[in-house]
Amino acid sequence: MNRRASAGAKNQRTSAGTRNRWASAGARNRRASADTRNRRAAERGAGTVLVLGIIGVVLALAAGVAILGAAQNGRGAAQSAADLGALAGATALGGGLDACSTVAAAVARNGAEATTCEVAAAGVVRVEVRRPVALPGRWSFLGAARADARAGPRPPEAGEGLPVPGTAMPRHVAGRAAEAGNYRNGRIPSHLLCDVSFAAGQRLRCDAAVAIERLNVAFRAAFGRDLAVRDSYRSYEAQVAVAASKGALAAPPGTSNHGWGRAVDLSGGIQYFGTAEHRWMVANAGVHGWNHPEWAGPGGSKPEAWHWEYGTAG
Ligand SMILES: [Zn+2]
Repeated sequence: MNRRASAGAKNQRTSAGTRNRWASAGARNRRASADTRNRRAAERGAGTVLVLGIIGVVLALAAGVAILGAAQNGRGAAQSAADLGALAGATALGGGLDACSTVAAAVARNGAEATTCEVAAAGVVRVEVRRPVALPGRWSFLGAARADARAGPRPPEAGEGLPVPGTAMPRHVAGRAAEAGNYRNGRIPSHLLCDVSFAAGQRLRCDAAVAIERLNVAFRAAFGRDLAVRDSYRSYEAQVAVAASKGALAAPPGTSNHGWGRAVDLSGGIQYFGTAEHRWMVANAGVHGWNHPEWAGPGGSKPEAWHWEYGTAG
């Protein structure tokens, strides 16, 4: 009886223990499934963090590229301003004008500020510029690009950059120009003429073309725009057509310097005597081998402010 009772009591304890085990198993299961949910949520959270991280890195890279691009553009623009400034200064000096005020104006027209301008012996102008760079937000402290350049009346040393006024023609250019001399006026074959890069459809003897490119760099630095070329090489047939329309005002066909590919007719202000552009040409074109012939001058036999020639001066 005692044993039974105790056995019954044990059974009760046992079933209670079983219930407890079940109950605790249920709790474990509930805890386990809660853990799983938590883990999954945590994994989802980690996944979200990872995606956000990748987006952040991509955005940072894109911003970095944009900043580098802006800095690179700023650097290039500063270098252009310095090159043009130095060239304008050297050209002004060659024309007897004040180099550094010309430099300051040319650099300012290209959005920069000349921080240094020195005229060295032998007419070499050295320029340092500072140009603001547009950078986003907290990078704006990077602020400005700096560059320097020099130009002068002598050939550049290695790595000095742009061609400078008065430098010798490259050999292949001189070769083509000499070969063009074997042909009659207005009969120069097309392959011996050179395009003028800034004036669509205009062609010149190659040495004249290179010279007007250099003249144009200086003109751009002074006026912020290209020379306006209305006419250049004229074939014999074209000279006949011009003579027919202009009569006595035109050179007899076969005699014009247009027929040798070494004359241009300019506009953009240069076609009138006394304009800023015309006076600039009178002061500066000679450095680059271009001149206004006497017959076309204000007191000449046939005043034509627009007509300029290469390599025909005294
Ligand atoms: Zn002309």
